[in-house]
Amino acid sequence: MGPGPVDDPRFIGYRRKLIEDVRARGIDDLELLQVFDQVPRHLFLPEGVWPRAYEDAPVPIGYQQTASQPSLQAYYLTLLRPGRDEKVLEIGTGSGYLTALLARMADRVYSIERVRELSQKARKALDALGYKNVALMVGDGTIGWRKYAPFDVIVVSAASPSVPQALEDQLAEGGRMLIPIGSRDTQDLVLVRRASGGVTREAVLGECTFVPLLGRFAWKSETGS
Ligand code: SAH
Repeated sequence: MGPGPVDDPRFIGYRRKLIEDVRARGIDDLELLQVFDQVPRHLFLPEGVWPRAYEDAPVPIGYQQTASQPSLQAYYLTLLRPGRDEKVLEIGTGSGYLTALLARMADRVYSIERVRELSQKARKALDALGYKNVALMVGDGTIGWRKYAPFDVIVVSAASPSVPQALEDQLAEGGRMLIPIGSRDTQDLVLVRRASGGVTREAVLGECTFVPLLGRFAWKSETGS
């Protein structure tokens, strides 16, 4: 990559600090921390919030949405451990930052976002950084992406009242899915696993707050239930 923001030593320094913050939250997988070191988060965020791009905090990205907290995303990746030969489905592309982290770990990433502008911005950032193994779609992620199913890993970055059946159906044997389940205000992060023909669900983290998953098999509107 030529000269430009990516090479700005200021950001490289900030990124190291972010990694220290993620480590301080108990994430000590070196391979995973290296992946965080390789993805310039600021390039996925609006320029106005660049000064906060490397804080371990959620960041507003417009359209009433937020990029999730990096250490929470690191926790997701620790639990899901996408493998080099695995296929990932992401619901809620948002900024595309997690998409990029996933693309460095897995074989292919399929990511669905309902807000067209966010998907387009994510596409630009992913292209600028040269990711070739990512397919983006604008649409309702609660119905999954049948064409490329089944998926080894499914990541849902928005909260849902229950596990959308289509997503569970599109989970491969040996597959793992993380999805925040609960009310609009607070959710449990639930790990869904398909193994030996059965599906198990386990709450792995309580009191999370995600933006709502809006779609056919989740909440129907911005404000209603
Ligand atoms: N991992 C992203 C999180 C973005 S927030 C990041 O760090 O940037 C969750 C995203 O889910 C929002 O962009 C929101 O628009 C999107 N979303 C909500 N409901 C959706 C649905 N049914 N299908 C696809 N995307 C959805």
